[in-house]
Amino acid sequence: MDLINILPDNVANQIAAGEVVDRPAGAVKELLENAMDAEATQIDLVVKDAGRTLIQVIDNGKGMSDGDARLCFERHATSKIHHADDLFAIHTMGFRGEALASIAAIAQVELRTRQHDNELGSQVIIEGSHIVSQQPTACPAGTSLAVKNLFFNVPARRNFLKKDSVELSHIEEVFRRITLIHYDIGFTFSSNGKMLYDLKAGTLLQRIAGLYGNAYKERMYSVEEQTDLVKIRGFVSRPEYSRRTRGEQYLFVNGRFIKHPALSAAVEKAYADLLPDHSYPSYFIGLQVDPSRIDVNIHPTKTEVKFVDEHALFAILRSAVKRALGQFSLATELSFDTPEEFNIAPAPKGYVPQQPRISYNPDYNPFRASGTQSHQRKIETFEELEPLEKPAPIEKPQPVAAAGACLQVQNRYIATPLSSGLALIDQQRAHERVLYDKLTQSNNLATTQSQTLLFPVNCSFSAADAEMLSELLPDLKEYGFEIAALNQTTFVVTATPTDLKEADLQPFFDQMLASYKSATLQKYCNRTQSLCASLARQMAVKSGTVLSQEQMQQLVADLFACPMADTSPSGKKIITIVKPEELLK
Ligand code: ADP
Ligand code: MG
Repeated sequence: MDLINILPDNVANQIAAGEVVDRPAGAVKELLENAMDAEATQIDLVVKDAGRTLIQVIDNGKGMSDGDARLCFERHATSKIHHADDLFAIHTMGFRGEALASIAAIAQVELRTRQHDNELGSQVIIEGSHIVSQQPTACPAGTSLAVKNLFFNVPARRNFLKKDSVELSHIEEVFRRITLIHYDIGFTFSSNGKMLYDLKAGTLLQRIAGLYGNAYKERMYSVEEQTDLVKIRGFVSRPEYSRRTRGEQYLFVNGRFIKHPALSAAVEKAYADLLPDHSYPSYFIGLQVDPSRIDVNIHPTKTEVKFVDEHALFAILRSAVKRALGQFSLATELSFDTPEEFNIAPAPKGYVPQQPRISYNPDYNPFRASGTQSHQRKIETFEELEPLEKPAPIEKPQPVAAAGACLQVQNRYIATPLSSGLALIDQQRAHERVLYDKLTQSNNLATTQSQTLLFPVNCSFSAADAEMLSELLPDLKEYGFEIAALNQTTFVVTATPTDLKEADLQPFFDQMLASYKSATLQKYCNRTQSLCASLARQMAVKSGTVLSQEQMQQLVADLFACPMADTSPSGKKIITIVKPEELLK
């Protein structure tokens, strides 16, 4: 006995409808996409009862012929692909010819459509896949498709719908996902006779403002990047406008909203520690990539996609966002690289150092423990030193060296003898390293080192900096700062760590915040590391400061106690060792 039946079309369509249109928002998406595929420049969405009783989309697109007006409700009826090869270069939203067939299977649909060249249009009424009527009609050019009583013949689905507010919010989300990226098209959206959105064609920023309010115009930085692989355009929220939820995060590829956890992570990574814990940036970013570099098996109703060049896209997107954040917020900030910095690069292999033009006392013995004479010694042309060979791993100072003769050179470098040669130490970087290690390792620094100011000092900041400082107050307290907010932008400082010699606290904090932003942007260090690096940088003794013999010895001893004595927290070389034979030359 044969058991197999071919399902009648209306049943097959109803089943297919379950995939395409699981709730009113699904039908809204399909109809809006069809209108865009028809090259409409103005699209109006009307819903009643959250789409339960009416979803209507009216467009001024190219319209359909009489024949197409009927055919479009057939399964696999599509004007968008003709060959399997077309799948590799899809530029339209739909292409499976399923949506209208599905919707017509589960609703009462009225289509009115007219092509621009025709005087009369067609009206088609179809209910549960059965054509009720088709007749010529006078109507505007374009298409109006009204979906009434969705799921009228599928009670199970109808009963599954959530309350109107929930269904309406799903529709709004669909509306945002489509309208955000199609900002060159005008859209309106009205619900139960009330206009919710009236979006004029314009720029992406205008569209964001149209959907979220004008205030958003001030909250965004623009992201732009163009490479062979991808063109990126969009907006990301300034860190101070981050949100407690991941709501406003929109990525689009070739005009289509997508969900892509890796690319979203790329955007969030770009913010690094600029954001307080448990807060998330808003972003609206469109990518254009060659459609053939996207997995063709994407389902039109799904938002997941796969890219051939995922890794490259990740890196490009992250750096584009980083740059957007850096370019705008850090325009005036201090860089870790100041031109006069001490940076002796390692020499290429096989490089024979040229004789450095150093004037030295031939009687000077750097390995002599005591050397009162050495105070007169001066390396006059230090700046002209040629690159030296990469130093051997840092040797802990011999007791003999720790006890003796540090020499300060140009108030910037400390020369101290080691058994392997003469160590030249950048005093500022060395102190930065020492302070950084102290700050990151010590939790009770506050109790031991805080010092109450005789006169509390008021400091004022921009709104953005003030917000950042507020976030950092608990951490700063641990490091010996007592700071309280007086109002939104003014703070009073009542205590500082004793290490802090700066009399002028305002520039101290300004620069500290700038370094903090920079540290969090330039490196992938965590918030504590960034804060400690910036504090250390501000608190460190500066080049040009005259150091006493005890200060130098203390600094050298402290430095050699650090596990990473040879590099500063910002990654700069601290120590160069001049070998005895080089010295003798
Ligand atoms: P698909 O979009 O996948 O092609 P649909 O079922 O959504 O399938 O639509 C079927 C066809 O009906 C489309 O290919 C298109 O030719 C036509 N169509 C649907 N909506 C419109 C519209 N608003 N304007 C013009 N043509 C339309
Ligand atoms: Mg479609």
